[in-house]
Amino acid sequence: MSKSLRVWFLAPEVAPFAKTGGLADVAGSLPGALMKLGVDVRVALPMYRMVREGNFAMHEVFPGLEVPLGDETLQCDVLETTTDHGVPVYLFDREDLFDRPDLYGTPEGDYSDNLERFTFFTRAALLLAKKTGFHFDVVHCHDWQTGLAPAYLKTLYRDDPFFSQAGSVFTIHNMGYQGLFPAEKLSTCGLPASEFHPEGLEYWGNISLLKAGLVYADAITTVSPRYSQEIQTPEFGMGMDAILRNRSDDLHGIINGVDYHTWNPATDPHLPAHYSVRHMDGKKACKAALAHEMGVDHQFLARPLLAVISRLTVQKGHDLLLEIVPDVARLDVGLVILGAGEQKYQQALGFLGQEHPERLAIRVGFDEPLAHRIMAGADMLLAPSRYEPCGLTQIYALKYGTVPIVRAVGGFDDTIQQFDPSSGQGTGFKFLEHEPGAVLDRIKEAIQTYYNKAAWQKLVKNGMRADFSWSESAREYVALYEEVRQRRENSHTGFAQDRVSSRYERGVR
Ligand code: ADP
Repeated sequence: MSKSLRVWFLAPEVAPFAKTGGLADVAGSLPGALMKLGVDVRVALPMYRMVREGNFAMHEVFPGLEVPLGDETLQCDVLETTTDHGVPVYLFDREDLFDRPDLYGTPEGDYSDNLERFTFFTRAALLLAKKTGFHFDVVHCHDWQTGLAPAYLKTLYRDDPFFSQAGSVFTIHNMGYQGLFPAEKLSTCGLPASEFHPEGLEYWGNISLLKAGLVYADAITTVSPRYSQEIQTPEFGMGMDAILRNRSDDLHGIINGVDYHTWNPATDPHLPAHYSVRHMDGKKACKAALAHEMGVDHQFLARPLLAVISRLTVQKGHDLLLEIVPDVARLDVGLVILGAGEQKYQQALGFLGQEHPERLAIRVGFDEPLAHRIMAGADMLLAPSRYEPCGLTQIYALKYGTVPIVRAVGGFDDTIQQFDPSSGQGTGFKFLEHEPGAVLDRIKEAIQTYYNKAAWQKLVKNGMRADFSWSESAREYVALYEEVRQRRENSHTGFAQDRVSSRYERGVR
């Protein structure tokens, strides 16, 4: 690396401060890996109630930051804390916007002022950089909540000398969340009406903040190579595949890494016993403790214990799961499910749990320590997602000696290798068709393998030895930041925007 890179990392959730899913894990660990590579990286996060109540050490660094929102100017205070890896995290504190029980909405639906909330956050983050003289080379934005940052750099701040060197990278963690808002709210964003068209942030008559990120960013990444291909097809593109095909030269698939400091069965503070690939006894103790905690009958200790840990949404395959649970129960196995999300799945799973109380345990809610205990105590992790940008639970499962059974899509396909008992190669089980028969076949195959002790041990150890730490992927991000910086240096103004515009002249929505 020539001159030290400066990266302003904007994320709507960052572990351990605020988390609803894998994006938080990534934003909590990737910056540490970047810092190790010499990047001056700083993270921006809204000050949610969850952060306020989390007892993290923090101090105020900028009181009364003034931020335009629509035709008002609001103020917020900025506090600073650090990640476990020592990366500075700036918290944007505005109680009426962020001091709420949840991050984005309740099980009944999204907060109605999410446009105001995340427009405010994004604009505040850019303005803080300016006020404090943080001359970042790249703003790295994550998902729709931060999609306006690249748009601001290419429009409102295009002629502002402070931002003249600032490039942008936008990472898609999930195409399913597009940040759609009515066109009448355009003035909330502070963008000129001239940006509201199909080559800008208009998406079929609405504003889409995801699309803003996709259109205006200098480079786009997503969280696995396979998903970067899939989202360019109508099946997985969620209506935005044409946009992505038109930016395919600037779209990169970089597989997520994981933080083995947090997810390691040899040291995990949430576990009742520890274990490693050489000393596996602790895993049995974790299974017994989990069965006891969840109320799964003792007789199932000698049988496979399956687990599901995921948001309760159609994306994660909970519709399919509901269909197969009665069949799974007949296979003489235990099943534990931890999830938070849509009410209809919470209720339906609750009913199923009552029908098979001795073998089926359901916990509704977001419970980080329990997720770790399930990861350690289960034998298999079932993840029948419709689509999966990367997926982290299957990667954690590998490290915890818990064999993943996944659909062969997106990051699942990139990270899990189908087990072949004849060669002893492979780390899990994969099915392709999203239908009950296909999943059940793989579950039966996994159960059969479980009872073949030698094969099972081999499979478990293959997974535990797999390495998905950040080092390689963090290097890929650094190379991309360098490329973006180089591009900006080569043509100070408007280079990427001109390229985008000429492509969009072809009338792609
Ligand atoms: P996604 O980001 O799509 O939700 P990932 O597999 O990438 O899926 O990441 C999910 C993360 O959230 C993992 O760290 C997983 O352990 C955690 N998680 C999901 N649901 C729960 C829950 N109900 N309680 C605790 N942790 C959860």
